[in-house]
Amino acid sequence: MTDILALENLRASGVYNKRGVTMVRGEGALLWDDQGHQYIDCVGGQGAANLGHANATVAAAIAEQAQRLISLTEIFPNEQRAAVMDRLCRLADMPRVYLCNSGTEAIEAAFKFARVTTRRTEFVAAMRGFHGRTMGALSATWNKAYREPFEPLVPGFRHVPYNNLDALSKAVSENTAAVILEVVQGEGGVYPGTPEYLRGAQQICQERGALFILDEVQTGFGRTGKLFAFQHHDLRPDLLCLAKSIAGGVPMGATLIGERLGVLPGHIHGSTFGGNPLACAASLAALSEMERLDLPARAAENGAHFMERLQEINSPLIREVRGMGLLVGVELKKKSAPFLQALTERGVVALSAGMNVVRFLPPLVITREQLDCVANTLAQVLMEPVSE
Ligand code: PLP
Repeated sequence: MTDILALENLRASGVYNKRGVTMVRGEGALLWDDQGHQYIDCVGGQGAANLGHANATVAAAIAEQAQRLISLTEIFPNEQRAAVMDRLCRLADMPRVYLCNSGTEAIEAAFKFARVTTRRTEFVAAMRGFHGRTMGALSATWNKAYREPFEPLVPGFRHVPYNNLDALSKAVSENTAAVILEVVQGEGGVYPGTPEYLRGAQQICQERGALFILDEVQTGFGRTGKLFAFQHHDLRPDLLCLAKSIAGGVPMGATLIGERLGVLPGHIHGSTFGGNPLACAASLAALSEMERLDLPARAAENGAHFMERLQEINSPLIREVRGMGLLVGVELKKKSAPFLQALTERGVVALSAGMNVVRFLPPLVITREQLDCVANTLAQVLMEPVSE
């Protein structure tokens, strides 16, 4: 039998630190490795698997569309694309949408659209923010470890402390094309934005002629307990960036475009795969399934229950439990990596966020029993000695 990990280690670029388990199958919130071991999945495809693994409706829609038409550039209209565009615009209550293939592309598009519309060149982003790893999105991302090897980045980006309205107000000028924020900072450590901060940021943008970009690549599609996290705070972004679970796990991204931008000039942007009928069919099926399964409400209820269970863990190693819906972080007083390894050995896979936070991003179909099991397993792992 081929050693899959060894082969990947031999042939892969090296940019990922691999975990030592080879996953072969998933169902709902469960994964199985090639040895037949079962795991509760709190990685959730890094947020792409909100619907759970092997959703039958999405799988059937993909299979059907694959036999009909996969590739079709957006210069030709298509019924799947038109339908998903209309659906996304209605759901977000925004007039237009640009379709692409990933979160970082949705961010790049937002930056270009903001520059073209405002004829300004500067952007304000938040410390601890994460927006992707292509050169424009990386310029808005805060983490020095991601940025520094690639400097100089795109000029005109500055970072201000998150949840600090004064600092934001001082940073936004008549040269600011847009402010970009996450509603809950995910990768940066699971920090929810306060309603005052987010509403204040939107108002500052309106007053100064800058656009307000929300990055909901991670918080979108039910994750925080509403379909979009901005709906918790009645925000009206000018640009809304979406990806991850938008198409049931099939690669797809979208930049929703608000009224302040209107119709964009032709030829300023484009993508070969953007709006392909396969991804659009998958997205239509995924959006229907999210609605049928009432996933935002489930994330709200089960997320609150899970946070309570985590808060009950009596461990001197826990500094704080934070989150919104089923985007949950447990900040430890130690590095999270050894605890993630120990969790994996006990059948729970989870993510880190920064050095010290264990981040749980399970499929939103996860059951209460499974969440209880995750909380119990974390409690056990925190009681035992781990090798650092
Ligand atoms: N923005 C946020 C908030 C994210 O969490 C991510 C990915 O984790 C991205 C952007 C980039 O998305 P992608 O990895 O699809 O390019």
